[in-house]
Amino acid sequence: MLRFEGVNTFYGPIHALKGVSFHVDKGALVAVLGANGAGKTTLMNTTSGLVRARSGQIFLEGRRIERLPPDRIVRLGITQVPEGRQLFPDLSVVENLRMGAYIRRNGAALRRDMSEVFERFPALNGRGRQIAGTLSGGEQQMLAIGRALMARPRVLLLDEPSLGLSPLLVRQLFDRLAALSHEGITMIVAEQNAYLSLEVASQGIVLETGRVALMGSSDELRRTDRVRQLYLGTKGKADPRPDDTGGDVPDAKRGSTD
Ligand code: ATP
Repeated sequence: MLRFEGVNTFYGPIHALKGVSFHVDKGALVAVLGANGAGKTTLMNTTSGLVRARSGQIFLEGRRIERLPPDRIVRLGITQVPEGRQLFPDLSVVENLRMGAYIRRNGAALRRDMSEVFERFPALNGRGRQIAGTLSGGEQQMLAIGRALMARPRVLLLDEPSLGLSPLLVRQLFDRLAALSHEGITMIVAEQNAYLSLEVASQGIVLETGRVALMGSSDELRRTDRVRQLYLGTKGKADPRPDDTGGDVPDAKRGSTD
């Protein structure tokens, strides 16, 4: 579905992505792990065209996209849920959802998709007129994902979706992401919560200072000493899983040298 070949991205003199190469199968859910500053957001923004790669190639189903502007990339089927959600806080829930569908014209299909968002995210049900800025953090994250779905993406890029959510909500969020993945949407999720992201993901990538340090199936990564040490906070046999009842979710960066 997506292929990155030797992608280099710079901010002035800062070399943020260094020869990044990997591919993502159709329908896969890929977790991108990495400490602060490793390049996760840059990878997302380079894919969606918000930041331009200086060299290298990105293919969406065989078609090169790394030189296309972001709106063309959205039209081709890649939608990003940015870090911090970036909703329109003064607009209502429905208005935010409409903004996600700005590339589409078919009113009946839009209304159908909007109903589907409310079905998928019951927390938003009955809140169509509520001003987005007054929703809770979890509801805002669901709305941000709902807004992205309104563009009918084939690839969804999610940047730190669990940021600021309680453990219970994070679990619900990841359950929703797993359900979307089962419906065939390809997803790349940059996450500090390595436990849950590797639990729902099929593949994982570890970025370290802009390079792909490790990649493989989630199971392979979970068995890797380096991932256990840096992102799962353990080297022992049993992974201490976060509980669902509001217990502490270990920080992905625990033990990091960052
Ligand atoms: P975090 O988890 O803290 O969001 P990240 O893994 O998403 O980190 P990026 O935000 O992609 O990392 O940053 C990668 C590198 O690029 C860092 O060294 C960062 O300081 C630098 N960087 C990111 N955005 C810019 C920018 N707009 N201008 C200059 N440097 C930037």
